Amino acid sequence: MNRLEIELRIEIGTALHTTGNQRRLGVDKAQALDVQDQPVLPATTLKGFLRARAEQILRSWGHQVCMGPGPDSMCGENAPCLVCRVFGNPRFRAPLRFRDAHPDSPGDSALAVRSGVAISRYRRAAYPQRLFFLETAGPYGTQWRALCEGYFSDRGAALEAAALVALAARWGYAIGGGRTRGLGWIEGVEVLAAVDGAPLEPSALARFWLAWERGSHVAEA
Ligand SMILES: [Zn+2]
Repeated sequence: MNRLEIELRIEIGTALHTTGNQRRLGVDKAQALDVQDQPVLPATTLKGFLRARAEQILRSWGHQVCMGPGPDSMCGENAPCLVCRVFGNPRFRAPLRFRDAHPDSPGDSALAVRSGVAISRYRRAAYPQRLFFLETAGPYGTQWRALCEGYFSDRGAALEAAALVALAARWGYAIGGGRTRGLGWIEGVEVLAAVDGAPLEPSALARFWLAWERGSHVAEA
């Protein structure tokens, strides 16, 4: 078994809003918080964002990969497609586990409440009395960090997963809820991957990208 560990360093350009399940007085959509009441970017949001980007890129390169999240439209456990091998699906449990992302310095990501007015799409006019309050985390330039890790049957599978996560991260931009309001824009994601504790060189991942871009599933050694 080979252990893959990926650290994602996420630079958020504007305030981030990910709707949590807490309810707070005076806020219509509360920011997701962890047990210490610090803002979090939930692992499911981060994983869903990267998966969607991976699907788009690979499809644009002519790969047959299934689109989440409906189980009927996803491949089975016997021969999962490239995206499902890395991100899993309801029938196939992928080795890679994503953890919640947290701001590097919690003090930097003070919660703020923004107000807005709900606009009718059809009439392009404000609904009367539809002022809403959205809670956001973080001013400009906030660094967030997330880890994902997993044990793979061989080194090639671990490298493939690292390459796909890194590729999806490079293409990313908006994450979380509230993206239509211009919130939660990612400036960049730095990906640091290591297999069995040894950091991977960018060229080890680029080999996969070049193969995938040509429509091939397997990187040449
Ligand atoms: Zn699939």
